[in-house]
Amino acid sequence: MSEFNLQNLVRANVQKLQPYSSARDEYKANGNEMIFLDANENPFENGVNRYPDPQQRDLKSELAKLKNVNSDQILLGNGSDEVLDLIFRAFCVPQKDNIITLPPTYGMYKVLAEINNIENKEVLLTEEFQLDVKSILNEVTETTKLIFICNPNNPTGNAFDARSIKTLIENFNGIVVIDEAYIDFSSYESWINFLDIYPNIIVTQTLSKAYGMAGVRLGVCYASAEIISVLNKIKPPYNVNELTQQKALQRILKVDEVFNEVESIIIEREKLIEVLQEVNFIDTIFETEANFILVKVDNATKRYNQLLEMGIVIRNRTNQPLCENTLRFTIGTSEENKKLIEVLQEIDN
Ligand SMILES: *Cc1c(COP(=O)(O)O)cnc(C)c1O
Repeated sequence: MSEFNLQNLVRANVQKLQPYSSARDEYKANGNEMIFLDANENPFENGVNRYPDPQQRDLKSELAKLKNVNSDQILLGNGSDEVLDLIFRAFCVPQKDNIITLPPTYGMYKVLAEINNIENKEVLLTEEFQLDVKSILNEVTETTKLIFICNPNNPTGNAFDARSIKTLIENFNGIVVIDEAYIDFSSYESWINFLDIYPNIIVTQTLSKAYGMAGVRLGVCYASAEIISVLNKIKPPYNVNELTQQKALQRILKVDEVFNEVESIIIEREKLIEVLQEVNFIDTIFETEANFILVKVDNATKRYNQLLEMGIVIRNRTNQPLCENTLRFTIGTSEENKKLIEVLQEIDN
């Protein structure tokens, strides 16, 4: 790698910023019984009358153990969407900087670029849904701050060749953001394991998919302590609420349950792939490392509507680049998948 200098990437206003210091930042219980008259809370206990821990220490310390990182390499947000937005706001100057995204991919990167008024340079994946490394590096300019890689990728489902990702990381002086929302369903190694080797990566994960907690909104960001401290400066003080912290902590303390569910979802996925091969209107079943399957069909909109009429909601991805006539199925329970198969066979004429 040439020279990567994080401070050169941080927006000047963020560098100068004196973060808001909340009551709970200034004083956190240290085990002694204290009387808290510092935050204008209602003193009558109801479980949520106190502000939550702004640094989510208990939750981060369990996550750190689980992922084999340090707590200061973790930032938590109100879903990945907040985490991704913080990354934009820390590093990208509106109307000046740009980012690179790699369609077909997760739609939020583009939307967040638009919201933050940042130019989004798009470089299509190859026909095999892999990274076109040369074209990506060709698009990099002086003001390219971030490259977003969704791995495994949504909606295609595949994971990218690790050597290609490595080449990008090693030849880019900005930050490579690797969105691992589906990593628990994948046989590929997480890039969290490379945080100590590469100072210019950010890995995002979420409790919304494998952990079965889309409703609590918890996004997790892993990066160098230096990057995390920049993001910490600009995050809203109480961005992860008390109920979310409690629920997520309970789930992580019983992570074996998560692993068991993931295992059943993967078994269901493989069963479904077998059966889909027998459906005549499905032309291609794409390789998947996620909890969904992308297929190419004869007429995506027609098949989508037929499934809807039969009470099954899937995602029609036909308007995504390289995804003409594709449909995306999330893996459901065994019963739900059985029903899906019945309906597919029924409309297959
Ligand atoms: C579902 C998904 C997320 C999760 O977003 P949350 O805001 O954490 O629910 C992130 N990235 C990708 C690619 C996804 O598909």
